[in-house]
This record gives sequence, structure tokens and C-alpha cells, in this order.
Amino acid sequence: MSISRRTFIFQSAAIGSSVAFLSITNTQAAAPMVSEADPQAKAVNYVADAKKSPKAKPGQACANCALYQGGSASAGGCAIFAGKQVASAGWCSAWAKKPG
Ligand code: SF4
Repeated sequence: MSISRRTFIFQSAAIGSSVAFLSITNTQAAAPMVSEADPQAKAVNYVADAKKSPKAKPGQACANCALYQGGSASAGGCAIFAGKQVASAGWCSAWAKKPG
């Protein structure tokens, strides 16, 4: 059984796209967590556990912040911490109620 040159090119392109997608996915999954000691984190009073912040109001957490990008995951991206992840249970002074 032989495959045509056209089929080979399409299959190679599909495999290449899959590898590129997996690489992007793995890069996002490997994003480091924001440290509370990070100067940028300190500037906005970020804590990984909202319950430990005297400034967070009851019910406020990254999970229900408009800037949280992690969906229902326990950690995810945040618009103010590019390339890093915050804990869904975390909080910072930039918290904004998620619409809806
Ligand atoms: S802006 Fe929102 S999601 Fe980002 S760290 Fe602050 S509370 Fe969490």
C-alpha cells in the first residue's frame, strides 16, 4: 500500500499541528505559581489563601474574580500576573466581581 505525496503532506502537517498544540498546552500547564513574596504580588497584597487576608471580604477569591482565567481549576492565569498562575482560593486587592 502506498500513500500519495499529497496524503503524506497533509498527514505530516496534521501531526505537526498536533505537536505544536501539545507544546503550547504543556507550556501553559507548567506556568509557575505566583509567590506571595513576589514584589508585584506584594504590591497588590496577593495571598494564596483568601481566608488568610484581613483585607479580603468574605466570599472573595480568585475563583470568582473577573480577572481569573483558570475556570474551575484550582490554579490558573490572572490578567495582572502574565505568565504565572494564581490559586483559585487566592485573593488580591485588584479583585473584581466576575460578571454574571
Ligand atoms: S486580580 Fe483577581 S484573579 Fe488576579 S490575583 Fe487578584 S483576585 Fe486573584
